[in-house]
Amino acid sequence: MHIVTYMRISVTDRCNERCAYCLPHDVTIEWLPKGQILTYEEILRVARVATSLGVTKFRVTGGEPLVRKNVADFIGELNKLPGVTDIGLSTNATLLAPLARQLRANGVNKVNISLDTLDTDKYRELSGNGQLADVLAGIDAAIDAGFPQVKLNMVLMKGKNDNEVFDLIEFAREKAVTLRFIELMPISTGEVLTDDNFISVSHVRRKIAQRYALVPLPEPPSEIKGNGPAAYYEVSGLLNRRGQPVRLGFIGAMTNLHFCDTCNKVRLTADGKLRPCLGSHLEYDLKPVLRANDTSDAKLREVFVQTIRNKPEEHEFRNNYVPGRKMIAIGG
Ligand code: SAM
Repeated sequence: MHIVTYMRISVTDRCNERCAYCLPHDVTIEWLPKGQILTYEEILRVARVATSLGVTKFRVTGGEPLVRKNVADFIGELNKLPGVTDIGLSTNATLLAPLARQLRANGVNKVNISLDTLDTDKYRELSGNGQLADVLAGIDAAIDAGFPQVKLNMVLMKGKNDNEVFDLIEFAREKAVTLRFIELMPISTGEVLTDDNFISVSHVRRKIAQRYALVPLPEPPSEIKGNGPAAYYEVSGLLNRRGQPVRLGFIGAMTNLHFCDTCNKVRLTADGKLRPCLGSHLEYDLKPVLRANDTSDAKLREVFVQTIRNKPEEHEFRNNYVPGRKMIAIGG
């Protein structure tokens, strides 16, 4: 049985971008009505139950978490729960610049930023009209705010951004942040995943290894260690501006057969479903429990325990998985 110590919380299904692999243009979006989204008080109640069952690490995500009002204040409250050691944020960084310092002050210690390209036009195209300049300002603000961990996540798309792998490595070196390569997964829509656009992390790793020696880091140092399944490598001889080695992560959900071995997480969707696995349709609805008149947490705890007990041994992405919910609705 998996031991669960990590919960990803989607605070909203809404996003100010429309990435090709997440919210493709042919998918109509119907944002959830406000009444269906958990209030911050409800999320905190679930998080409190989670901590009582051994969860110590949280990641706030979405949709785009920074589009929800007062998210930094919510994080401040999350950080006050007993036993919390880690609060991460996953963001496209377009709205990060003005919020970075407050988020850091309120307890965020890890920030993951999506960055698939450094080309302004391509960024606009891939993100459905996003502005690369805002993202770059967000990255600089995150670095200035002094988060102990800032990582860039690049989703690999054959023929779209695989020609930028070395540019992204150079950018990560300049900024002294860790860069991670992520395989496309069949979330939101299975159609993004075709032989024409899928490229494996091992392919990209081999390409990098033709230029640089890559040294595996089976025990990554604390400044890059995350709670996820990334495999980390150091680029031998390539130092960033702080004199540290450049480090790269590879997240191969589709090709790494041991991907799920160490999975320690559950996900709370914006509308209150607890999901034990991103790549399985299994979910348990907490909203009726939260909105019943019962003010004790016993029933919530029961659903939580059931979710952990039924956590699949591995995801179903390799078995012709047909997504049932959009990524924004699950929380990435
Ligand atoms: N809006 C935030 C962001 O941009 O990081 C948080 C939510 S987003 C869904 C979380 C991560 O999931 C992003 O890094 C995004 O690139 C990744 N993602 C979304 N759809 C994906 C897919 N089909 N395959 C692989 N990664 C995906």
